[in-house]
Amino acid sequence: MNNSLHSIHQLISEIATKLSEDDQHLLTALQHEIDKVMLHGSEENTHPSTPHPDKASGCYRFGDDPDYYCPHCFDNLQQKISTQRLNKQLRVCPQCRSSLRPLQ
Ligand SMILES: [Zn+2]
Repeated sequence: MNNSLHSIHQLISEIATKLSEDDQHLLTALQHEIDKVMLHGSEENTHPSTPHPDKASGCYRFGDDPDYYCPHCFDNLQQKISTQRLNKQLRVCPQCRSSLRPLQ
């Protein structure tokens, strides 16, 4: 993220040297938009990435994310896979096909 931000800023200053004085405001606007996106991106990164085992579903949950994630895929593959609800007691992971039941 920081590396690409650095390249973007480099590109912008290169473009700035080629643009006429009248067009410089376009770059300022672009810079502003990029900063907004980058800021939003880093906000997302501060969301909790630590899984919380959810006893009622047997899945992992993350922060205030409403989805239920497969604990096997997260532990083994570091992937966040949303599980699908089969019925009241059972959820299934579309990736590893694990059945997830409430932990007693
Ligand atoms: Zn899985």
